[in-house]
Amino acid sequence: MNAVPIRPVSIPDDADLQRTTAWVKMTAADHGLEVSAVTSVDPFPDAASVLHDRIDAGHLAGMDWFTHDRVDVSEDIRNLHPTAQSIVSVGLTYWSGPVEKPEDGVPRGRISRYAWGRDYHRVIKRRMKALHANLEKQFSHRIEARFLVDTARVMERAVAARSGLGWYGKHSCIIVPGHGSWVLLGELVLDIPLTPDRPLDQNCGRCRICLDQCPTGAIVDAYTVHAPSCISYLTIEERGWIPRDLRPKMGDWVYGCDVCQNVCPYTRAARITDDADMRPASIANAWPSLHWLLTMTPEEFGATYHGTPVPRTKRRGLARNAAIALGNIGTDRDIPVLATALREHDEPLVRGHAAWALGRLSRDAMRATRQALDAARRSEPDDEVREEIDAALETGA
Ligand code: SF4
Ligand code: SF4
Repeated sequence: MNAVPIRPVSIPDDADLQRTTAWVKMTAADHGLEVSAVTSVDPFPDAASVLHDRIDAGHLAGMDWFTHDRVDVSEDIRNLHPTAQSIVSVGLTYWSGPVEKPEDGVPRGRISRYAWGRDYHRVIKRRMKALHANLEKQFSHRIEARFLVDTARVMERAVAARSGLGWYGKHSCIIVPGHGSWVLLGELVLDIPLTPDRPLDQNCGRCRICLDQCPTGAIVDAYTVHAPSCISYLTIEERGWIPRDLRPKMGDWVYGCDVCQNVCPYTRAARITDDADMRPASIANAWPSLHWLLTMTPEEFGATYHGTPVPRTKRRGLARNAAIALGNIGTDRDIPVLATALREHDEPLVRGHAAWALGRLSRDAMRATRQALDAARRSEPDDEVREEIDAALETGA
C-alpha cells in the first residue's frame, strides 16, 4: 500500500534538476545498478527505421515479438506511459573475471555468462523498484513509473545510446566505458523531469574482430546481426530443429554465446564486478556436463535452473543443444550416452539431434555409431527423427 500522496511534482530550476539527477544515479549505484544515464522521452525515429529495415530483411525472423506494429508503438515511450518525462537507462555490470572451463575430463557445455546466476530480468526490476521507492521517499510524492527489462515495449539499446550510458558496438551490443558489453540493461521510466545526458562520441573505428570471429558469420555487417544464424538465438529462441549446416559451428554452447563479447577489446578491459546475484550456484549453471543434460529429468532441470534465465529454452531445448555440443566436441566415449538418448529420450527433438551427433562421431567410430543408428531406425516412430537418422547414416557412411 503506497501512503505517499498523489500530487504533481514541481522541480523549480536547472540546479534542482541536476541535483535530483545526480541523486538518482548515485542511489541507482547504491541499489546495485552500477551505471545509469538519463535521456528524454522524445521518440526514436532512426532506431525505428533501422528495426523496420531489419524486419523486412529477415534479420529478426523467428522473433515474433518484433513486428512493425510493435516497433511503431515502442518508437515513442509515451505510447506506453503517456505522462512519462524521463527515461533512466540503468545497467547491471556482470564481468566477474576470466573463468575457464574446468579440465576434468567431463565433456561440458558452455552457458552464456549472463545466465549463470539469477534471472537478470527479475534482479534489475527488483533493484529499479527499490530505487523508485527511495525516490518517492526522497520527494514525498508518488511518482508514476514503469520498470522495463529486455522488452520490445521500449527501444532499449537506443535509450542506452542516446543517454550516453554506452555506444553501439558492431556486434550490436551496447559498450559501456569501463565495462565493455558485460552490462545488462533496464529502463526506469519516470513522470518527473531529469537532466538528460549526452550521447558518447565513440565508435569501433576500423576494428572488425567480432565480425571476423563470430562462429556462424551471424554479424552480417557492422551493427547487423542475422538472428536466425546467431548461436544465442539458436540455443535459446529456436524451439525446433536447428539447421544442419549451423550445428557444426555451434561448438560447445548450450545456452547463448559470448564469443563476440569475449573477443572485443573493450570487454577484455572490463572491470571486475562481484555481484552475488550473478554467480553460478553450481558448476551445472555455467559448465554443465553434456551427459547429464542429455539424461536430466524434468525435476533435475527445474531444481538446477529455476530462477535463472535458462528455463526459457526448456528442458528439451537444452538437451537438444547438449546433443549438438557432443557431436562437436565429443569422442567415441560419448557414443553410448548419445545412443541411449537416441533410443530412449522422451523428446523426438533430442532423439533427432542425438542421431546427428552420432553421425558426426561416426567418422571416428563408424561401427558403433552405425549399429546404434540402424537399431534406432527400426524402432523410431517419429518421421522427423527418422529423417535425421537417415541423414546421419549418410554422413557416417
Ligand atoms: S552471440 Fe555468438 S553467434 Fe551471435 S553474433 Fe555474437 S558471436 Fe555470433
Ligand atoms: S570487437 Fe571491435 S568491432 Fe566488435 S564491438 Fe568490439 S570494438 Fe567494435
